[in-house]
Amino acid sequence: MKLLNKVAIVTGAASGIGKGIATCFAREGAMLAIADLNHDAANATAREINAAGGKAMSVMMNVCDESSVNAGVAAVVANFGGVDILVSNAGIQIVHPIEDFPFADWKKMLAIHLDGAFLMTKACLPHMYKSGRGGSVIYMGSVHSKEASILKAPYVTAKHGLIGLCKVLAKEGAMHGVRANVICPGFVRTPLVDKQIPEQAKALNITEQEVIKNVMLKQTVDGEFTSVEDVAEATLFCAAFPSNAMTGQSFVVSHGWFMQ
Ligand code: NAD
Repeated sequence: MKLLNKVAIVTGAASGIGKGIATCFAREGAMLAIADLNHDAANATAREINAAGGKAMSVMMNVCDESSVNAGVAAVVANFGGVDILVSNAGIQIVHPIEDFPFADWKKMLAIHLDGAFLMTKACLPHMYKSGRGGSVIYMGSVHSKEASILKAPYVTAKHGLIGLCKVLAKEGAMHGVRANVICPGFVRTPLVDKQIPEQAKALNITEQEVIKNVMLKQTVDGEFTSVEDVAEATLFCAAFPSNAMTGQSFVVSHGWFMQ
């Protein structure tokens, strides 16, 4: 077991990629905090993990709200005794061309993806520093941390921004044994992507099949979606890596959609 007795908080863990990471980490022996805005779904995920022999608690949390984040992290520390791993994963998608992008939606996107990552990091770091065990922070980036697509101005902006935050934390956290990395998935068939398919078809005036074939998978080497399990394995690799040798990095997991 690669994460035996480690305490991991995964935000957005009630669905999609976050749920896959939480399930994978639990199999590797970690104690999991399923942190999500959707409390019922978070409870259900924690129950599933516990029923399979793992150890999980659910935490109702809005990552954009400082007091909600601080209360959630405090509840995890009270229950599990600390925090060793943070996977800052919660996210949403809103697509419009820039000239039509409502300012409120721009701010909402940056709040979830960037404020959320900052607030979670700020709340977890003192516990990692204090423990003497260090820790691992993993931000859920995207191929859009490296490349742009039309209609996704705030998403691309925020996902690029996470790489900056990661590099600063890699430098500040090193003396405490805290590492920071970014995982950058290609398109994964989750509710976030399923919602985008009809929206992009409408915005681009093409069929949903064309969105899948020509927008989401055209640049891959094999025409395949990245899977939740692929992303979970890459995240596990970062979480379990034992030294500061691998920090401040961003890893693309995308069937070649983007190549460095
Ligand atoms: P998803 O919609 O399946 O899950 C997102 C989860 O985040 C949901 O459970 C939702 O309740 C939660 N959430 C949303 N806002 C929140 C908030 N303010 N506070 C707490 N929780 C909140 O989406 P997913 O596809 O699993 O995406 C997870 C992450 O992976 C996102 O950061 C996304 O940008 C990133 N990502 C996804 C893909 C993809 O193709 N699906 C590709 C690259 C990166």
